[in-house]
Amino acid sequence: MKEKKHPEKSSEKKSTSRRDFLKKGLLAGAGTVLAGGVVGSFNAFAQNEDTIYVLGSDMKVLSVPKSQVKERNIREEDQMQKEGREGIPGRKWIKVIDLSKCKNARLCMAACQNAHQLKPEQHHVNVLRMDRGGETAPFFMPKPCQHCDNPPCTKVCPVDATFRRQDGLVLINNERCIGCRFCIAACPYSARIFNWTEPKDAEKYKNVEYDVELNVPQKKGTVSKCLFSADLLRDEKLPYCVTACPNGVYWFGDENENAVTNGTTKETVNFKKLIKDNAAYVLLPELGTKPRVYYLPEKDRLVPFTYEGSTEIKKEEH
Ligand code: SF4
Ligand code: SF4
Repeated sequence: MKEKKHPEKSSEKKSTSRRDFLKKGLLAGAGTVLAGGVVGSFNAFAQNEDTIYVLGSDMKVLSVPKSQVKERNIREEDQMQKEGREGIPGRKWIKVIDLSKCKNARLCMAACQNAHQLKPEQHHVNVLRMDRGGETAPFFMPKPCQHCDNPPCTKVCPVDATFRRQDGLVLINNERCIGCRFCIAACPYSARIFNWTEPKDAEKYKNVEYDVELNVPQKKGTVSKCLFSADLLRDEKLPYCVTACPNGVYWFGDENENAVTNGTTKETVNFKKLIKDNAAYVLLPELGTKPRVYYLPEKDRLVPFTYEGSTEIKKEEH
């Protein structure tokens, strides 16, 4: 039986109703056949008027009275996947990144990697060193998925594995993903990564129930990306990267409430006022992708960088 608990998380995150449903699902699964294919303990093999023949998990053919078999459409998801696909009603998640505050501490990256079973070279959020050229000072830019309101990535997926939810999050179901990488090619922000090899700690995660809101366990041959920590949002917590930052770079909140909270200071402010007063911008607006990530300009650049926790660039010379 699969475990529900994430090895790197200390507390249960899913609601009781979701866990209860999963338990019921496991009990019912032994007699459930999907139309057009099957999951669970056996696969449909052949059928006549009164009997259906199925291929068991031990590769033996079983005959089952047709009256005992409950058909499900293969497009039906279990409750956990269904909730993960629908999103949280009434919410429109939004992120604001203050470029004037980023010192390349990269703790956001580490927290994200730890939560999502990523190797050190794999990033859902990457801190890029930006340089406008000439005599200007460089700056650092954290770049997660922009959770576009008009995402080109979802439109090219041939199997409906990646999708946009009602709360604005763009996620991936790795159990559907066939690894064609069309979405990687379609994303103008290079926000997606591909699992070319077995994921980190594959053995440790092998009995963990797949969670579409966490992309864990990661699967070789499928795509992964930033999820705005959808699993934490369901528990009304700020994303991993947002709380990990020691420098006040990240604001996160709900556009419907017009409020964002700083992950470092925990201060909550008016979202529209914040982006208006600070001349915020989105990346590549001319593409019409309508990102849900706003950037506050890289004014008052904090150079040279002296932050001790920096893992890559401890000091910049200018
Ligand atoms: S940033 Fe890329 S992966 Fe993310 S929603 Fe937009 S197009 Fe899709
Ligand atoms: S790689 Fe996966 S998510 Fe991306 S387009 Fe192909 S099937 Fe869809």
